[in-house]
Amino acid sequence: MNTDMNGKTEIKSMDFAELQAWIESLGQPRFRAKQIYQWIHQKHVDDYEQMTNLPAGLQNTLGALTEWVSLKTEKKQCSALDGTRKYLFALNDGNMVESVLMRYHHGNSVCVSSQVGCKMGCRFCASTLDGWVRDLKPSEMLEQVYRIEKDLGERISHVVVMGMGEPLDNYDNLLKFIRLLTDENGLHISQRNVTVSTCGLVPQMKKLAEEDLQITLALSLHASSDEKRKELMPVANQYTIKEVLEACDYYFARTGRRISFEYSLCGGVNDSDQDAEALGTLLRGKNCHVNLIPVNAVQERHFFASEQKVVREFKNKLEKLGINVTVRREMGRDIDGACGQLRRRYQKNAENPDN
Ligand code: SAH
Repeated sequence: MNTDMNGKTEIKSMDFAELQAWIESLGQPRFRAKQIYQWIHQKHVDDYEQMTNLPAGLQNTLGALTEWVSLKTEKKQCSALDGTRKYLFALNDGNMVESVLMRYHHGNSVCVSSQVGCKMGCRFCASTLDGWVRDLKPSEMLEQVYRIEKDLGERISHVVVMGMGEPLDNYDNLLKFIRLLTDENGLHISQRNVTVSTCGLVPQMKKLAEEDLQITLALSLHASSDEKRKELMPVANQYTIKEVLEACDYYFARTGRRISFEYSLCGGVNDSDQDAEALGTLLRGKNCHVNLIPVNAVQERHFFASEQKVVREFKNKLEKLGINVTVRREMGRDIDGACGQLRRRYQKNAENPDN
C-alpha cells in the first residue's frame, strides 16, 4: 500500500481499485471512491475542501490520513519561437524537476520527467550531470501533466516520458503512472498517445512488452556499433546492440507497436556515411521509425550538432535503404527545452535564471 514513514496514505498514486479498497476499509461506501478519484484525477483540485460533494467529516478524515502530493510551479518559460513552454516544478521535499509542453497540430504533448537526476550517464545529456537523487512517484509524474493542463486551459492529448531520468529504471512507478494517466475515470489519455523512451534496459523492455499496453516504445540507439555506443552511453557496456534490438523485436511481436529509434547526431562522432549505412543495415526490414535529433548543445559537454547538409545526407541514405525516418523538429531551443537539456536545478539556481 502507498504509505509513507508517518503511516500516511499517498492517495494520488493509488489506482482506482486500490482507492476503492481503501475507502471501504474506512467503512465508507464504495461510490465515494469514484467521487474522490474524479476530483483528484479529472478536476485536479488542490485540497479536500474543494471536493464539495463529500461530507465535511470525510474531508477531515482524508486530510488526516493522507499525504497530499502536489507540485509547485517555480518557474515557467515560454518559447518565442514555437509556443513551447518549460516548467520548473518543486516537489514536496524541495527537489526540482523540469517538464515541457509542446504544441503540435495533432495536439498538446507533455514531456514528463521520471526521476530527479539520472544514473545512466549518457555523455551528451544534461540530465545526468549531477547523478541520480531519487525516483519520482506516480503522483509526481501525473502532477506534471495536471499542472500543465490547468495552466494551459486546454486538453493534453499526448505524453512522452522523455524528460529527466530513465523511466525503465523506475519501472513500477512508471507503470502505475501510465495506468492512472490512461484510466477512464482520470485524464483518459489514449495509450497509443503515450511514448516511453529508454536508453535500452533490456530486462525491463521485455517485461514492458508483456504488460498488455498499447504504448509506443522509443529506443535511444545513437550508434550502430557497440564500440561507438559505449563511447556515448555507459549502458552499452551492459547490453549489446544485438540484445537491445532483440528486445525491440520482442516488444513489436508482443504488442504490434512499431518501435521508434532515436539517434542523436553528434558532429564528427556518429554522423558519417558509413554510420548511416551501418544503421540502415541494422534496422533494415524492421517495422520501425527513426528520429534523427541533431544533438543539442549542453554547456558542460563537448558535442555539437551535425551540419544541416550532413543531417540531410544521413536521412537520404537511410531512406534509400528503405527506412522510415524524420528529423525531429527542434522545440523550445531558446528556453533550453530541447532533448537532453533538462537538468536538476536547485533553489539557489532557480533564483539565478542564467544558471
Ligand atoms: N532516459 C531516456 C529518456 C530521456 S532522454 C532515454 O535515454 O531514452 C530523451 C531523448 O533525448 C533520448 O533519446 C536521449 O538520448 C536524447 N538526448 C539526450 N541528450 C540529448 C542532447 N543533448 N541532444 C539531443 N538529444 C539528446
